[in-house]
Amino acid sequence: MTTLLEVKDLVVEFPTRRGVLRALDGVSFDIAPGEILGVVGESGAGKSLTGAAIIGLLEPPGRIAAGEIRLQGQRIDNLPPAQLRRIRGRRIGAIFQDPLTSLNPLYTVGQQLVETIRTHLDVSAAEARRRAIELLKDTGIPAAEQRIDHYPHQFSGGMRQRVVIALALAAEPQLVVADEPTTALDVSIQAQIITLLKRICHERGAAVMLITHDMGVIAETCDRVAVMYAGRVAEIGPVHDVIHRPAHPYTAGLMRCIPDMDVERERLHQIDGAMPRLTDIPRGCAFHPRCPQAMLRCHEQRPELMPAGATRAACWLHDAATAAPVELTA
Ligand code: SF4
Ligand code: MG
Repeated sequence: MTTLLEVKDLVVEFPTRRGVLRALDGVSFDIAPGEILGVVGESGAGKSLTGAAIIGLLEPPGRIAAGEIRLQGQRIDNLPPAQLRRIRGRRIGAIFQDPLTSLNPLYTVGQQLVETIRTHLDVSAAEARRRAIELLKDTGIPAAEQRIDHYPHQFSGGMRQRVVIALALAAEPQLVVADEPTTALDVSIQAQIITLLKRICHERGAAVMLITHDMGVIAETCDRVAVMYAGRVAEIGPVHDVIHRPAHPYTAGLMRCIPDMDVERERLHQIDGAMPRLTDIPRGCAFHPRCPQAMLRCHEQRPELMPAGATRAACWLHDAATAAPVELTA
C-alpha cells in the first residue's frame, strides 16, 4: 500500500496548572491515496484532536510533544506556520461540524471559493469562477450560477455544508479531514451529505479522514476504521472485519451498542463504566477497568497495536507469545 498520510507515535499535550495532560499518547495510523478512513470512539477519545493536529489547528496551549505526521513522506508536524498554512489549504482540506465556522459571513460563497482557488492554484479570475460554479453544481447546489453570488446566511444548513465541502475541495487537496461533518444537520439530510462527500472525494481522488461517533456512517462509508480510546488507537482494520469480527473488547462493546433495526430492543447495550478522564488514565491497558476479559498483565503492561486476525488491536488477548487467538462476537 502506498501511503498518503502517516501518523506515527503522535503525542499531544496540554500544560495545565496541575501538570501536563497527555491527550494523545502514541497515536499511529496511515491513510492510502483515495482511501476513506473512519475514526470512531466516544467523545474525549481524541478523535478531533488527532484531526486538528493533522491540519495544524491544535488550539494552544495544546502542542505536539512527540511523534511525526508525514504527507507523502514529507514531515508536516514541525513546519513553520506559513508553510503549514499553504499545505493545509492546498493539500489538506478541512470540514467541520458547524458550517458557519468555516464560512465568512461577510463574503459571498463565490468570493470565498474564488479566493481559495486562486490562493492555491495558478488560474485566472474567470477560470476560478468557472471552477467554483462547477464545484457548487457537483455538490448539488441548484442554480449554482446564481447561488454563487449569495452570502452564507442565504443558504439552509444542509446547503451551507455543501458549500463547505465545495470549499474544502476547491484547491484539489489529496486529503480531506472531516470532523463530524453532519452532526449539526437534520437527520433527514445527514445521509445525503455523507453520500455526497464520499462521491465527490472519490471522483476527485481525495482521501478522507472521517471523524464520527456514528458507527452506521462508518459502516456505509469507510474502507477502514480506527477505533480510538483514551487518546490511543485501540483497533484499526478493514471496516467489515472491525464491525463483524472485532478483535479488541472495546470495539466489540461499541458494536453491541449499535441499535440493530431487525432485532428487539434488548440488543441495545451500553459498555459498563465510562472512559477515564485524561487526568487519571489507568496504568497498563487504559480499558482494563471496563474490560470483561482483563488479565493480570493488563493492569501493568500497556499493549501496542499488534496483528489480530484481519485487523490490528492494542490488546494482550492477541499477543502471539502468550495467548491462542481469541474470537470475540459482536
Ligand atoms: Fe482487555 Fe487486557 Fe485487552 Fe485491555 S489488553 S482490552 S484489558 S484483554
Ligand atoms: Mg470531537
